[in-house]
Amino acid sequence: MADTGTKNPVAVEQAGGRFHCSEAYVPLARTAHLVAHDLMPIFYDTHAHLDYPDFASDLPQVIERAQAAGITKIISIGTDVASSQRAIELSDRFGQVFAAVGWHPAHALEAPDDLRPALRALARHPKVVAIGETGLDNHRLPSAKAGGAAADDERYQRKQAQIFEQQLEVAAESGLNCVVHQRDALEATLAMMQKFAGRVRGQFHCFADDAAAMRRIVTMGSLVSFTGIVTFKSAQNVRDALAATPLDRFMLETDCPYLAPAPYRGKRCEPAHVREIAAMVAQVKGCTLEDLSAASCKTALGFFPKLK
Ligand SMILES: [Zn+2]
Ligand SMILES: [Zn+2]
Repeated sequence: MADTGTKNPVAVEQAGGRFHCSEAYVPLARTAHLVAHDLMPIFYDTHAHLDYPDFASDLPQVIERAQAAGITKIISIGTDVASSQRAIELSDRFGQVFAAVGWHPAHALEAPDDLRPALRALARHPKVVAIGETGLDNHRLPSAKAGGAAADDERYQRKQAQIFEQQLEVAAESGLNCVVHQRDALEATLAMMQKFAGRVRGQFHCFADDAAAMRRIVTMGSLVSFTGIVTFKSAQNVRDALAATPLDRFMLETDCPYLAPAPYRGKRCEPAHVREIAAMVAQVKGCTLEDLSAASCKTALGFFPKLK
């Protein structure tokens, strides 16, 4: 039933706490093709790059389609200070959009030496729900590029670690958690998070490691979140990790405009596609969409204290 919903967006209606997670449903009474009592489980997109140019021409429609698909909260994630500011602006403009502010490890070399003052100021905004995305990424080191050398890798990794630690500090001070981007750097990322144990938890976003890695993350009090990768034929290892993840220890996200789930693979991804991700996740977990809705929304509300 959700598929037709994306083509016929219902009017956005935010009054009266109707979309609060404890209700777990959005009435679809306004869609003519559905009977009045038809209900649809709601989900959140906990990681979307809504400020990217990919959405510049049709963002209101993108948000409307998400709402029609039952995706009632979207966290727009920052990748540097300017992107974080744009995420905040979007949260001011759209009631269902929230912001995370941070600096992505892939852009570490362009970061100021001390990122903390800028982030502290941004984090005070009432709709900033987390610090990130931040973390460590060894996937494409400078030495792998033309003209790169081992010394460049060292400088890059040192700067990544420096700004990751600064972001964890700001998170701890602000009472927020971190959205963690980790690629080919699990051990170092866990070691850094360990320094902040008991103060900051991490959402290991776009989780694509194995069940053993998931268990280590969950054991330290952090969480994982799954993207459209779970729908890819080749991603049985990610579905296995998901099957092993307790129902209250993960969230859903698109990481849009990237990683569109099947059957949209290769196209621009958008928050409405959490529906397709949720369908696969419920199948792998052997639970109903309603159970998944209740669990994943509750987990997100607990993890992001300002997500209201
Ligand atoms: Zn990321
Ligand atoms: Zn991202």
